[in-house]
Amino acid sequence: MLQIKNLSTSYFQGGATVPAVRDVSMTIEKGRATALVGESGSGKSTVALSVMRMIRPPIGDIVDGEIHVNGRDVTRMSEKQMRSVLRSEIGLVPQDPTTALDPLFTIRSQIVEAMPHTDKGDRDDVIVRLLESLGIVNARDRLNEHPHQFSGGMRQRVAMAIALAKQPSVLIADEPTTALDVTTQIGILRLLDQLRKERDLATLFITHDVRVARLLCQSVVVMYAGVVVESGPTGTVFSNPHHPYTRALLEATSLDVGPRRKLLAIPGSPPSLASLPAGCPFAPRCPSAIDRCRAEMPPTVQAKHGSSFACWSPVVAA
Ligand code: ATP
Ligand code: MG
Repeated sequence: MLQIKNLSTSYFQGGATVPAVRDVSMTIEKGRATALVGESGSGKSTVALSVMRMIRPPIGDIVDGEIHVNGRDVTRMSEKQMRSVLRSEIGLVPQDPTTALDPLFTIRSQIVEAMPHTDKGDRDDVIVRLLESLGIVNARDRLNEHPHQFSGGMRQRVAMAIALAKQPSVLIADEPTTALDVTTQIGILRLLDQLRKERDLATLFITHDVRVARLLCQSVVVMYAGVVVESGPTGTVFSNPHHPYTRALLEATSLDVGPRRKLLAIPGSPPSLASLPAGCPFAPRCPSAIDRCRAEMPPTVQAKHGSSFACWSPVVAA
C-alpha cells in the first residue's frame, strides 16, 4: 500500500526555489488503482519521482510530508533502508522508456539487475515468462538484443518487465503509453490492468487522459499547478465534479483534445510556479472565480460520496 501525506517537493533552479508539488496527499490500497490527472506541468511526475526519492539536491528536494510504502515512511529512513524498500517494493514504469533502458546493455542484463534474489539458473526462464506475459513473442531469442532493436511499444514493455521483475507491491506508471500508437496503447493499458488484479498491486497511474483514468482506475486525484484540486472515487468525481478545473478537464476531453494540447475549454495557461498567485492557482483562468479565490487558498472540504475538493466557488450540480 502507498500512502502520501502532505507531500511538498521543490526544485532548485538558478538560486530560486520552484514549488512544483504542494501539500499532496493520497492513499492507494493493495489491488486498487488511482489515476493522477492534470495538464502538462501540474506536478504529476514530480509526485512519482518524489516517491522514488529521485528528486534530490542540487536538483530539488522533498521539503515536507511523508511517503509510506507498506506502512514505512521512506522519507525518514537511512539511505540504505530506503534503497532496499524502493528496490524491492516499488516498480516504476517511467514516462519515457528510454530513461529506464541503457542502450549499451542487453535486455537480459537490464532485467537481471532488478531480480538479484532469483537463482542464477532460473533467471532466463523467469525473464522469458515475464516478457512473454507482456506480449513479447520469441522472448528467449531476444534476450541478447539491445534496446534499439525493439520498437517503441516493445521498449515500453521491456521497461514494464524491469519494473515488475522485482515483484513489487506498488506500481507507478507515468504516462506509460503517451508515445505509442492507439492500438499499442490499448494493449499496454489492458496489460497494466490485468497485472494490477493478478498481483494485487497498489497502482498509481499518471495520465493526461481522463478517459484512461475512468477506464482503469477506481480513484482519481486531479492536480493543478502543484496542488490537488479534487479527488475521490472516479465515478463520483467525473460524474459530479465540484472544482471548475475538473469540469474544464472533462469538457476538454469531450471536445477530443489531444493529450499534449492546451485545454480548449479554458482560456489562458497555468501560472508560473516561480510567482504563484496568492489564492487558488486556478483563479486567473477560472470562469466562476470570486474575489476570495484571488486572495486566499481554499481549504479542502469533503463532498458527498467520498470525494473532496478545494474551491471557494464550486460548480453547482446540474
Ligand atoms: P507532464 O504532463 O508534461 O509530464 P507533469 O504534470 O508530470 O507534466 P512535472 O514534470 O512534475 O509535471 O513538472 C512540474 C513542474 O516542475 C513544471 O512546472 C516543471 O517545469 C517543473 N520542473 C520539472 N522538473 C524540473 C527541474 N528539474 N528543475 C526545475 N523545474 C522543474
Ligand atoms: Mg510528467
